[in-house]
Amino acid sequence: MPILAIDGGTPVRKRLLPYGRQSLDESDVAAVTAVLRGDWLTTGPKVAEFEQTFAKAVGAREAVAVSSGTAALHAAIFALGVGPGDEVIVPTLTFAASANCVTYQGGRPVFADVDPDTLLLDPGKAEMLVTPRTRAIVAVDYAGQPCDYDALAAVARRHNLALVADACHALGGSYKGRSVGSLADLSAFSFHPVKHVTTGEGGMVTTGDPGRAGRMRVFRNHGITTDHRQRESAGSWCYEMAELGYNYRLTDIQCALGMSQLARLPAWIARRRQIASAYNRAFADVPGVIPLGIRPDVGHAYHLYVVQLQLERLKVDRARIFAALRAENIGVNVHYVPVHLHPYYRRRFGTKPGDCPVAERAYERLLTLPLFPAMADGDMEDVVSALTKVVEAYRQ
Ligand SMILES: *Cc1c(COP(=O)(O)O)cnc(C)c1O
Repeated sequence: MPILAIDGGTPVRKRLLPYGRQSLDESDVAAVTAVLRGDWLTTGPKVAEFEQTFAKAVGAREAVAVSSGTAALHAAIFALGVGPGDEVIVPTLTFAASANCVTYQGGRPVFADVDPDTLLLDPGKAEMLVTPRTRAIVAVDYAGQPCDYDALAAVARRHNLALVADACHALGGSYKGRSVGSLADLSAFSFHPVKHVTTGEGGMVTTGDPGRAGRMRVFRNHGITTDHRQRESAGSWCYEMAELGYNYRLTDIQCALGMSQLARLPAWIARRRQIASAYNRAFADVPGVIPLGIRPDVGHAYHLYVVQLQLERLKVDRARIFAALRAENIGVNVHYVPVHLHPYYRRRFGTKPGDCPVAERAYERLLTLPLFPAMADGDMEDVVSALTKVVEAYRQ
């Protein structure tokens, strides 16, 4: 058996393969420099252009560009009017921002457990958490797999709740032939460099409701009801702050980059799916490693490729497997520490271990493997060899 790099053996790769990475080319550079040579760096024409292009790409009526995925979630929760005393159901196995958006507005995130196979929000468990104070459900398309939106929409309808999609993993995905971005009342996207399309930092909210879109455009601009360009064309110095908003604007520089990137999304999704199916085939023969379950009616966007380790078949824990893979120069990651276990949430809302047992058990076993469109077939083979090597060395 080959000696593991963590024990002094030769690593599978010489250089670290990151778990995610942006793809940028000269067309992106040209799009950005054209804006830098123009008149509008921010609040200019590229913002509406990007919004319209994005809305069309995901089949939504409206899209509102903001400065991050977190700002997108915050704007969505604001648009719903969530405030103190209100509860919002959020799956615990997600990035903290999926819950923080509720807390920012003074609401209470109520953490729901996930399905053990897909790690997606379980609609039945979500429904059991509904109380008279529940206002909304945030569905997280974990790893890029769309949630069961028909089941979630039915729960929302029965209890008169809004449905928000944290679709930060799922741009380019679909559910029963419908695009992610058109499946919930409001859908939030991120353009962080590890996500499908990047603007450096950036985000977008899509909605079918023009009234909510208008509220979010005011929210991203301090709560001010007229923007700089509208004031200039009206020749007016007057503005009114009607709501407490933030500076969550996305610049024209970023919007130009986003539009340029969006044009290549279909090819990137195809490549992500190709890599994921090669991983699925390879790991079918590796005892101790279980890829996540995929529901039959989804077009998976594969932001992440996540496996669960069968710890009962291994002599070591996930931390050791993680360290051994890093030593082989495979940039593995873990998504996520369940949000209800973070010290802030324990302190603020009294959440504790045992609240969401499926997510807590999964968390001990999760491993995210490198996946991004620019990965070469050889990179993918390195990941398969390294995980096979490490798991075989530690198998019981
Ligand atoms: C990335 C991400 C966010 C936040 O996006 P930022 O652009 O980093 O603010 C929110 N939720 C999920 C599930 C994410 O993956």
